[in-house]
Amino acid sequence: MKIHEYQARDLFRQYGIPVNDYVLVSSPAEARQASVGWKQTVVKAQVLAGGRGKAGGVKLADTPEEVEEKAGKILGLEIKGYPVEKILVCDAAPIAKEHYLGMVLDRAKQGVTLMLTDQGGVDIEDLAVSDPDAIHKITLYPHRPLDDAALKSFLAKSIPEENQLNQAMEAAKSLFELFKATDASLAEINPYALTPDGEMLALDGKVNFDDNALFRHPEIAALRNPEEESQDEIEAREKNLSFVSLDGDIGCVVNGAGLAMATMDIIKHYGGDAANFLDVGGSSDPQKVAEALKIILRNPRVNAVLINIFGGITRCDDIANGLLIARKELDFKVPLVIRLVGTNQDEGRAILEKAGLKAGDNLDEAVKSVIEAAKERS
Ligand code: GDP
Ligand code: MN
Repeated sequence: MKIHEYQARDLFRQYGIPVNDYVLVSSPAEARQASVGWKQTVVKAQVLAGGRGKAGGVKLADTPEEVEEKAGKILGLEIKGYPVEKILVCDAAPIAKEHYLGMVLDRAKQGVTLMLTDQGGVDIEDLAVSDPDAIHKITLYPHRPLDDAALKSFLAKSIPEENQLNQAMEAAKSLFELFKATDASLAEINPYALTPDGEMLALDGKVNFDDNALFRHPEIAALRNPEEESQDEIEAREKNLSFVSLDGDIGCVVNGAGLAMATMDIIKHYGGDAANFLDVGGSSDPQKVAEALKIILRNPRVNAVLINIFGGITRCDDIANGLLIARKELDFKVPLVIRLVGTNQDEGRAILEKAGLKAGDNLDEAVKSVIEAAKERS
């Protein structure tokens, strides 16, 4: 899960990482108001996408009037598909140097890679390509005590001056605490700026979290921004379905993530395009099948739906009952192609046949006919 810069800043503050002052607003007038008394102001788009600066989403302003004008321009932008609805106005810090301080989970090492460079400000991904040696790296281990001396000599590679180094030590430790306490997968301060007065400040922040650990952190889960997911994805998550929207026209209801992936591959192989990835899960709750179909059929692009069930724990009769519930609750005209094999397949087929629905057992045949059916309707 991603969060906005202002939310990352809130977390930085909570963990004691110094940031310049900021106010979240949603109109040019509010932006102007918030900036009164500041020598210079940075106006920043709050969108869940990187590279805002390059897209015109970060602007400096010298007067409240200019803040209002730039806020108006930024609020009209769309950055990487996200319309800018909220902006952050910050008390601009004078910058003597821009560092980058970031952490990312390293699964292979079972640790956290701390990264540092004195060429901050720019996208670290770009720097990693153009000058990889400029990025210093060290691994921190969540379950071991921090080696202060090692951390200090690491940070000194980019930040040798003692006072700044001590500030960076505190910031790095706090960022690590934040990272561990929230089950983050990435936490970045870029720029981590040095002011001419010798103060080290976070001027931008980015934190991503491990979705699978969110249940342990209701306060973090509550930061979720609905624009990160499509409406369908939100509803599917609430119904405990694993669902991802795609661009094609063939809806898929499959049990098991592996089979769902394979189903999408086979659809592609025969020249079709899946409208979604959907795993109804291992267990077989008829209501869940019905909910899955409802979400899929709401998508106007869907021209046909493939139900692909390989029953293990999942029972084919439960799936069949779920389909009948869905058919009763929804009035759908989109053709369904059903492939049903495994546990209780005869019972499942009998239930469907009684209701006038046919189910096959061959996946290739099912995929070919769902593609055909979708073509006829498109
Ligand atoms: P990003 O492009 O989305 O990463 O946005 P940032 O918040 O990192 O801002 C991009 C650039 O704007 C920074 O690298 C700085 O050069 C500049 N900038 C951001 N905040 C400040 C500030 O408080 N003072 C000054 N002087 N420049 C800033
Ligand atoms: Mn940045």
